[in-house]
Amino acid sequence: MTLAQVWGVAPAGIAAVLVKVEVDVSQGLPSVGVVGLAQTSVTESRWRVRSAIINSGLVWPNSRVTIGLWPADLPKTGTSLDLPIAIGILQATQQVRLTESDVTFVGELGLDGGVRPVPGALAAAIAAARAGFTRVVVCPGNARAVMAIPGVRPIVIGSLAQLVGVLSGSAQEELQPEPESIQASDAEAPDFADVRGHEFARLGIEVAAAGGHHMALLGPPGVGKTMLAQRLPSILPPLTEEMALDVTAIHALAGALDTDHGLLAKPPFVAPHHSISVAAMLGAVRGGRLIPGAVTLAHGGVLFLDEAPEFARPCLEGLRQPLEQGHLSLMRVERGLTAPARFQLIIAANPCPCGLATDRAESCRCTPMAKRRYAERLSGPLLDRIDIRSAVTKPTASQFRMEDAEPSAVIADRVLGARDRAQHRYCQHYWQLNAQAPGRLLRSEFAPSEHGMDLLVEAERRGLNPRGSDRVLRLAWTLADLSGVNLPGREQVSVALALRNQEPGN
Ligand SMILES: [Zn+2]
Repeated sequence: MTLAQVWGVAPAGIAAVLVKVEVDVSQGLPSVGVVGLAQTSVTESRWRVRSAIINSGLVWPNSRVTIGLWPADLPKTGTSLDLPIAIGILQATQQVRLTESDVTFVGELGLDGGVRPVPGALAAAIAAARAGFTRVVVCPGNARAVMAIPGVRPIVIGSLAQLVGVLSGSAQEELQPEPESIQASDAEAPDFADVRGHEFARLGIEVAAAGGHHMALLGPPGVGKTMLAQRLPSILPPLTEEMALDVTAIHALAGALDTDHGLLAKPPFVAPHHSISVAAMLGAVRGGRLIPGAVTLAHGGVLFLDEAPEFARPCLEGLRQPLEQGHLSLMRVERGLTAPARFQLIIAANPCPCGLATDRAESCRCTPMAKRRYAERLSGPLLDRIDIRSAVTKPTASQFRMEDAEPSAVIADRVLGARDRAQHRYCQHYWQLNAQAPGRLLRSEFAPSEHGMDLLVEAERRGLNPRGSDRVLRLAWTLADLSGVNLPGREQVSVALALRNQEPGN
């Protein structure tokens, strides 16, 4: 008979990829085979499809059926290919005719011929849109996921029989869900308006948001470090559409979103507990599928490590690659997988094991040895990359009585303005944020004013090392951008030095 060709989508690594389903129905003993690295859930598909076709009043071919899945080297899992496989068989046996080529099919088949929702429909719709498809056939349970993605429209059907009817023009598709309900429902981040005192830490977080700087909050337990970090997302710019697609796909595949959730618009905030396993922190591969870790869930947003020195050493060491490259390689026997992991790192730590070293040095009973060991846990992979070290102290009684703290919306405006200025300045270069500016250029093309440089040289004479010095210059630029100054001067360099001052353990 004939060869049919239909498009479906399968999960792959952290995203989803288009899969070409080819069905060949030929003379021979009745049999059905699947070629193209199908995992168990996909090879079982043939039996679900067979029952679904028969129970929909359609004909299962009494001959040799070969199902090919391409790209052949990609392991295929899940049940989302049931629907394209069924349509391929019906097309190869002339029971349906596909007249248009820009349609993909996503759905699991029940034995009765009903179409069921699949996890990761959002990722599937994103993959379809990126590959230039304009329509995705799904069941009602997955329709909103497709509607959330610009450029694709769902064709909504409840059963295989209904789909065959729609394709032949003899049946109507289901009504599309109400568009009102496709709004992404990211939880509101808490607001800076509720924070009393903490002037300097607030400034540090604003600078971190504007320049993309990694930050450490250092202070005794219960002083408000977590409360401050949680408010960072409320002043970060919304995700770009491209980034929103990536972030949404990651969270959908991780099973962190409902199947009908819309596009995530805000940067994620991921705050793992210090008891987290290495696999949960960095990600793992199970059954050929990538399970994203905290670093990947934080992609495009914030990774917050509270009590950072308490995390297992491999968890902290494992942050090195994502911090340097923005992604993480997970090597497995069959193939290496790469997970995106470009996040802004915020860590909180006590200044010493007992936590009292900064406030009242006399009440801290930690030995110098214990303090040094504690600080060493953060050194190397982390402290090297952190631009801002902010000491957080308890607000005074009078600060607690203050009425009007600046709300997040006002700070977010300044942050956006500062980012615009930086982006404009760096438009001829490959980076957009001050935190990413190469140190070499901060002393030539993007050097501060002469007075600013004098102050920096003075600090270098007092022991500021060259890398620390680069970080001061980056911070000075962000401070200049926030206040609309064209060139960082003495004032910006002086505040930048203050933003780097504290180190744990001293
Ligand atoms: Zn102590």
